[in-house]
Amino acid sequence: MRRYNVTTFGCQMNVHDSERMKGLLESLGLGEATSPEEADVLVFNTCTIREKADERFHSRLMDARAAKLRDPSKVIVVGGCWSESVKDELFELYPFVDLAYGPGNISRLGEFIQAGGEVPRGHFSTFDEFSGDLPMRRERPFQAWLQISQGCNSTCSYCIVPSVRGREQSRPAAQLVAEAERFASEGVRELTLLGQNVNSWGRDLPVAERSGFGDLLRALDAVPGIERIRYTSPHPKDMRDDVIAAHRECASVCEHVHLPLQSGSTRILRAMRRTYTRDRFVTLAHKLRDAVPGLALTTDVIVGFPGETEEEFAETLAVCEEVSFDHAFTFIYSPRRGTDAARMEEQIAEDVKRERLERLVEVIQRHAHARNQQLLGSVQEVLVEGPSRTDPDVMRGRTRTNKTVLLTHAEPGEIVSVRIEAATSQTLRGVRERIAATV
Ligand code: SAM
Ligand code: SF4
Repeated sequence: MRRYNVTTFGCQMNVHDSERMKGLLESLGLGEATSPEEADVLVFNTCTIREKADERFHSRLMDARAAKLRDPSKVIVVGGCWSESVKDELFELYPFVDLAYGPGNISRLGEFIQAGGEVPRGHFSTFDEFSGDLPMRRERPFQAWLQISQGCNSTCSYCIVPSVRGREQSRPAAQLVAEAERFASEGVRELTLLGQNVNSWGRDLPVAERSGFGDLLRALDAVPGIERIRYTSPHPKDMRDDVIAAHRECASVCEHVHLPLQSGSTRILRAMRRTYTRDRFVTLAHKLRDAVPGLALTTDVIVGFPGETEEEFAETLAVCEEVSFDHAFTFIYSPRRGTDAARMEEQIAEDVKRERLERLVEVIQRHAHARNQQLLGSVQEVLVEGPSRTDPDVMRGRTRTNKTVLLTHAEPGEIVSVRIEAATSQTLRGVRERIAATV
């Protein structure tokens, strides 16, 4: 049997795409190798959101090239966003790559890699199809991703995603509910809905099937066995009252919203084409916290967008102080080819960007720490995911608010009540109170 290994870079969407690549490869009769060294077919699922992602992948690709020089029977497959972004020159620049395809072509992997793992060299095709309903190999039996849409219709000036993942296509609600029911029958307790802009879901569907994200949450909440529903990422511009109402109504919808801010300056937000202002974001954040008791709010922030002044950066810090996020992913602006922002004058110097990032991280961590401290003594519902990264005797799980909790005396897949006894900006630690439910 030929063996494959998939190396994944990038976001949760890519992790999920890899589950489907693995499912497809196994349906073609390939087995999984635990490392790229042992594999006959080396698959890379790539990311290109920032330059760092490109660099990380590049060094792994060079390792694969060296492996292929030693053993020319190895097949090198490059899928994902980077692959799509360099499709016109990929084979010229990297002639040792056998097969490459974009994120919209996963469903056609079977055409490319034939039974037994034979690969017709150099096949490439740009995205065209929705790859929703494919075999997948999930990592954990009790958690699943449900991709509700692909692509993005926004035109954020810094972002390469729309050009590599195409226009937004939503999957019909009936298909999504059926998939959730199948997951539940397989023992899934927690669903994470995935899309580049989840809360614009449904607008592109034919009139007879059109509905909104709030109604999708309600329909999935009604699926027996699904105890937790998460989603990522919503866009602030599409966070309608109906979605907030669904949070209140649906017992399974978790008290966590990841609401990407990007910048706290209305002028920069306009240059980013985010289509909301600083005030609208802050008002929305307060509205969400008022509507959903115990809500955790997390965000993405970019520092050093072209033309960002010290005063405008200070406005970002001020919004982070005011909203007091539970956590944030903080990024240094990275010019991406083909995007409008990459062509803007006034690119910010690297040392200025790095210094701003450090100041931002200090604010974010201070608030994350303070918000986690507020949970000391409280009892949290935790879904146990598996052993902690550093100590196999300690288990790691997540609260409904998506905070990591370390605990003992629990099994993966259990939902348990945990009294929180210690908190840092990153992690909670607690003691199990009583068994809330078992698998
Ligand atoms: N569609 C999602 C959204 O709008 O929030 C996720 C997009 S992207 C995978 C995740 C984050 O990467 C974005 O929210 C943004 O903060 C960041 N990002 C995107 N392009 C970037 C760039 N050129 N430089 C730095 N950060 C970037
Ligand atoms: Fe990129 Fe903006 Fe679309 Fe998110 S909403 S994927 S940041 S273009």
